[in-house]
Formats: sequence, structure tokens, C-alpha cells
Amino acid sequence: MAENNLPKAKTEKVPVRQQAAGERIKNFNEVPLGYNEEEALREAGRCLQCKNPTCITGCPVNINIKGFIHKISLKDYKGAIDIIRLDSSLPAVCGRVCPQEEQCELKCVMNKRGNAINIGSLERFAADWEAENVKTAGQNVNKKTDNEGRTVKIAVVGAGPAGLTIAGDLAKMGYTVVIYEALHIAGGVLVYGIPEFRLPKRIVVREIDKLKELGVEFNLNVVIGKSYTFDDLKNMGFKAVFVGVGAGTPVFPGIPGEHLKGVYSANEYLTRINAMKGYLFPEYDTPVKAGKKVAVVGGGNVAMDSARWSRRLPGVEEVHVIYRRSAAEMPARKDEIERAREEGIIFNMLTNPVEIIGDDNGWVKAVKCVRMELGDPDPSGRRRPVEVSGSEFIMDFDTVIPALGTKANRLLTGSVPGLKLTKSGSIEADPETGATSIPGIFAGGDITTGSSTVIAAMGAGRKAAKAIDAYLRKS
Ligand code: FAD
Repeated sequence: MAENNLPKAKTEKVPVRQQAAGERIKNFNEVPLGYNEEEALREAGRCLQCKNPTCITGCPVNINIKGFIHKISLKDYKGAIDIIRLDSSLPAVCGRVCPQEEQCELKCVMNKRGNAINIGSLERFAADWEAENVKTAGQNVNKKTDNEGRTVKIAVVGAGPAGLTIAGDLAKMGYTVVIYEALHIAGGVLVYGIPEFRLPKRIVVREIDKLKELGVEFNLNVVIGKSYTFDDLKNMGFKAVFVGVGAGTPVFPGIPGEHLKGVYSANEYLTRINAMKGYLFPEYDTPVKAGKKVAVVGGGNVAMDSARWSRRLPGVEEVHVIYRRSAAEMPARKDEIERAREEGIIFNMLTNPVEIIGDDNGWVKAVKCVRMELGDPDPSGRRRPVEVSGSEFIMDFDTVIPALGTKANRLLTGSVPGLKLTKSGSIEADPETGATSIPGIFAGGDITTGSSTVIAAMGAGRKAAKAIDAYLRKS
């Protein structure tokens, strides 16, 4: 590699500079630093501008990747971000957290010649350029009114990527949009789940401010299904409702001891730290007690985030990930697993907890585990983990964080008679329109698919905006 961080060969990806592991575990700042202009130009210059750009087919919302990279290579950064924004409402977010290696970058033909183009970092570059260089003046949109001259109001339930996207799209069409959010902050998983060191809050706040400029109203600390029912929303004059409440109910392992003090679901743990700033206790009054040794159970992004946050908490000396399959089957993004390893997290592969052991005061003191081996593939295609008999062993821990996935919360779905649900409790909705079994109620994002991705939730919000507009024009 050349001294200026740029590789000599065009087949090689321009690496992304990042904070050194020893440094970053002492702070909460973003780990990858992103491309500077020279790096972005060099990386954009590697794009072959294929006649049939397969990368676009790999993007769940079909961003014109070829087009925006071409604009970057011409130093037309405004042109680049304008192209991205045609299909994505959260480019600075997606550039940072989308699993590009499984989507657009997987389809990049440069994979065959060396390394795929770093599409995510180029998207982030264009979005960050926009934030620094483009002043967004509040857009003047003609408000839609009904026959009696009243504005047409739509309620959006949940301020995650699905809700934020649909709110923006509908506001731009002239609808009066009111978001109801259960938490005290808007952003959904982007603010309560994904850590500051992967996605700084200011990026999400920037997007929310843009929506406020468009006239979107945010009502925080309002739980639909409790504070208001759907009938209340109807009586308040809303002509349609979009439900984007995510899938926030944690799945527990179902083993003895999981109700001991010191066992947190990953959702609670991350919410306390991210959204309630538990890591700044006593400055903020929501402590998170992690102790010295932390065990995180699971192998996905949520497990990596919980482990890497734990590594940064004062007083924590050792963080273990316990995963029942092998490293090859871990669903977390490869970069995040690598970063977790660099940060000193200990991976216990082919290991499964069977009991959490408590002390006399009901606090966690240890975890009993068994060794696993891989058997035949299960319906997901991954090899099934099978217990090795007689392999039990005990490891001491102060805190245990199951990060085994989430499912739909019944609080809202259970409060709407006639709303059809799937077997797993998600809302049944048309994937192309978000239409549910009740006319006028639309849904999208994790509440319809189960835990998925930011870009999928955003795409669902975008489709539902078009469908709601069509529905209201007809009715
Ligand atoms: P959410 O983001 O869950 O937002 C739903 C919102 O609705 C929340 O703010 C919630 O408080 C609110 N709400 C719930 N019930 C009610 C109610 N009754 N009334 C009012 N409001 C309500 N995806 C990626 O693409 N890349 C990643 O790197 C990644 N990392 C992740 C890390 C973690 C820790 C987690 C948990 C998820 C991660 N995901 C990642 C998944 C991604 O964040 C989700 O798929 C996405 O946020 C779903 O968006 P959503 O809008 O459907 O729901």
C-alpha cells in the first residue's frame, strides 16, 4: 500500500481509516472514519461503470449506484446525493449500517477481479458531504385538503426507519403527518439499539430535523394501543394510519436462571446504554450494572453491539460471546465480528448456555454451558448444532445478555380487533403496499417481517406512502 493509504493496484479497495482498537475502547466515538475526498475519488474511479450494473439489483431499494458513483468520480457530489435520495431517505444511515457485503457489493463484478467497490463508504461520503455543504431550507409544499377545506391527516405509529421514511414521503406529497412514538426520542433502533460508535446520534437527529422542516409533527412518549387506541386516532380525524412499530419483544433462551438479577435482554441493555445514556451514570440516572465479566449469548449484529458496548463500560474486564454454532455461521456482519475481535472480545464458539447460576442474593454468578458440534443442515441451510453429551462446564460471569432475536410486541397488535396477524404475531401486510386486513391501516418494517434491516424497513415505508396516497385519492 502507498504511504497515503491508497492502494497501488486498482483491483484493491481503498481501505477505510478507523480508530485503533486500543484507543476506541476508551471512547464512544464512531469507529470507521469514512473516506476523505481523495480516497472517495480513488474508490469511485475503480468502478467499471458496467453496461448491466448488477450492483443495483443487489440493493433492496434499487439505488442507481452506477449513476451516483459516476457523479462522485466527476466531483459532482450534489449530483451524487441527489441520485441516492431518489430511492433512499436515509443515506447517511444506510451508508454506515447496511449489510452491503450481502447486497450491492456482493453483486459487484469487481469481486471477480479483486475487491468489490466499497459502495457503502461512497454512499456515506456523499451523504456526509451533503450535511456539510447543503443548507436545507424548509420546503414549501401545498397542503392537501379535503372537500371541506380541512387538511388531510395521516398518523404514523413508530419513529423508526419505516415510520420516518413514510412520514417524509407523505409530507412531501402535501399530507399533514403526525408521528406517535412510544419512547422519549425518535429514531427507533437507530437510536436505542445501534451504538453511537457505529451510528452517531447526530446523523439520525439530522434526518429528523429535515422531517420537522417539512412540517412533520412528532409526539413522543405516546404508546398507541395504550395512550390512544386506533378508534381514538380515527376520531381525531386521521384518514389513514401507518404502523411501523418494529419487533421489540426480546426472545429469551428458556433456561433456568434467566430471571436472575444481572440478566438483561439485549434490547433492554442497549436501550439503557444508548437511549438513556446509562454509560454516563451518575451524570444520567439510569445505571447499567455490568460488573467485571459479561457474557453475551448469540452471534448476530445485536450480540456484537452488546459485546462491544460492554467492552467500553467502566469496570468491565472481560467480555465473552457465547455462540452455539461455529464462526462461519455467525449472522453478524463480518466487519463487526472482526472489530469485536480486535477489541479483545473472547469468542466461545460451539458453546451453548444451559443454566444461569445465581448467588444467595439472586444475582448472576456463573453460566453452565455445554459444548456443541455441527450436525446435518437444518431448514435454514445452516448445520444444526448438536449437544456433546457429558461436556458441561461452568464459567463465572456477573452479567448475562441474551441476544437471540426479537418478535412483535402484542401491546399494539392485540388492541386492534380484526387486524390479521401471522403465526409469529407479526402484522399480515401486502409486501408491495403495506395494506393490512383493515382498510386505511397500513404497516411495514420489522412489525411485518420480523427483525430485518434498516433499508428493508425504509423500502417498506416508501412503498406504503405511495399506497396510502392511492388509497386516499380513491376514498
Ligand atoms: P424500529 O426501528 O424498531 O422502530 C419502531 C419504533 O416504534 C420504535 O421507536 C418504538 O419505540 C416504536 N413503537 C413501538 N411500539 C409502539 C407503540 N405501541 N406506539 C408508538 N410507538 C411504538 N439493520 C441494519 O440494516 N444494519 C445494522 O447494522 C443493524 N444493526 C442492528 C443492531 C441492533 C442492536 C438492532 C436491535 C437491530 C439492528 N438492525 C440493523 C435492524 C434494524 O435496525 C431494524 O430492522 C430496523 O430498525 C427496523 O425498522 P422499523 O422502523 O421497522 O422499526
